[in-house]
Amino acid sequence: MLPDEYIDRLQDLLEQLRRKMGSDSSAGSDAQSYNLPVHWEKLDEALNNLVERLSRHYPFHESFYAGQMLKPPHPAAWLAYALAMTINPNNHALDGGPEASFMEKEVVRLLVQMTGFPDQALGHLTSSGTIANLEALWVARELHPDRPIAVSNQAHYTHQRMGQVLRHPVMILPVDEDGLPDPARIDPEHPLPGTVVVTLGTTGQGRVEPLHRILPWARKNHVRVHVDAAYGGFFHLIRNTGLIDPEPWKSLKDVDSIVIDPHKHGLQPYGCGTVMFRDPSVGRFYQHDSPYTYFTSGDMHLGEISLECSRAGSAAIALWFTLQLFLPDAVLYSLSEKPEEKKDASVADEAATTAGLPQILANCRKAALRLYDALEASDRYHPVMRPELDIVTWIPATRVNSYSAVSKKSEEILRRGMDAESRESKLYLSALSLDQSDAVRLLPELKADQQSVKVLRSVLMKPEHLGFIPEMARRLHRLNDRTD
Ligand SMILES: *Cc1c(COP(=O)(O)O)cnc(C)c1O
Repeated sequence: MLPDEYIDRLQDLLEQLRRKMGSDSSAGSDAQSYNLPVHWEKLDEALNNLVERLSRHYPFHESFYAGQMLKPPHPAAWLAYALAMTINPNNHALDGGPEASFMEKEVVRLLVQMTGFPDQALGHLTSSGTIANLEALWVARELHPDRPIAVSNQAHYTHQRMGQVLRHPVMILPVDEDGLPDPARIDPEHPLPGTVVVTLGTTGQGRVEPLHRILPWARKNHVRVHVDAAYGGFFHLIRNTGLIDPEPWKSLKDVDSIVIDPHKHGLQPYGCGTVMFRDPSVGRFYQHDSPYTYFTSGDMHLGEISLECSRAGSAAIALWFTLQLFLPDAVLYSLSEKPEEKKDASVADEAATTAGLPQILANCRKAALRLYDALEASDRYHPVMRPELDIVTWIPATRVNSYSAVSKKSEEILRRGMDAESRESKLYLSALSLDQSDAVRLLPELKADQQSVKVLRSVLMKPEHLGFIPEMARRLHRLNDRTD
């Protein structure tokens, strides 16, 4: 899983770090907690047990794991995290670092630049997308206490939950013929929302909601816009490559707040989310008076602008390090609207598909299109819709065309793929339950004999999936033996 080159470097780097921080390397650490007596036999026994327990996880690192939105972090992120963890900085306050806090501020600047937000935008990392969205919804409530927050029916389930936590009403937006949210259709009798949440990359099917249509409506009606791009955010990097529809992404820079999860498509271990606000004055909502933290510096402490207190400084350091390696400057220039930064545009367009993170996202996107083509060509499956990012959904061909028959067959295929004896035939997929309201539009040929239909789903979020698709199609073919 982890290439030896990374593991080999760790020992040496730990040694260097220890020397730089002034510990006598020959004596090792004198910290009491490291010297708690350990029975080496017991340790080895416990370690064996640990490895056994860990090995029971699904093999997220394999190409044939093409199920949920999961993958191991990049080894570079692992290496930076492992080193940083020996110090264990806390990014709540500069007292808890402070370098990790500086690195977080730098990395947030990069993400602000990536989205095209103005330089003065306020942002910070969080433990997850859920917490990042909670902060955005909390600010939404504070700014418009009398108006609901609106989300689409495909929005992440946690928005509704956080509405409960905040004791603030969350309404569902009406949809157009394509199943996409259209706030212009809100019943005129209904109060307008104070903020609409637009999801760029829904968790279920990877749909990109039409921000370019919603934003002008919102501006006209004095409604704020929050973008939940927890999963989809990094696709902004390839918006100029012709691989995705650039229109919704062009409006990203003009919204009020954005959430992006580096632990989804940013190569990071859990937990690393981000929230960014266009208007830095929302920082006033976070004000608090802690009697025991902010002492070492009069500079802004991250805890003064975030909901959480303790937060892993190592997460910020790992992201900082990863983006140093995989987010080429040229790509950021190519996304810039500023003419003086556009000068490297041709280099940038090339970098956008041949290097670092953009290349990874491009390959994931291409893998999704390739799987879609294979499913279109197959007599044993039908795609549910053309993927918009790197999530593909499809149904098995069944003798009886009904929700119940398709659901049963989907579950069988899922199970068979996971349980296959040999490595050569294993395939880990996931399932998605489509509600009848969506299924009648997407799968009109199926008889609606129950409330929802279970379809097969793959999140192709590893670049190596691109080369694996022909083999994946063969395994899929064998998994549907057509006897139902
Ligand atoms: C994953 C996801 C979330 C939740 O983020 P966590 O990091 O899992 O807490 C929110 N919104 C969308 C669109 C997501 O894909």
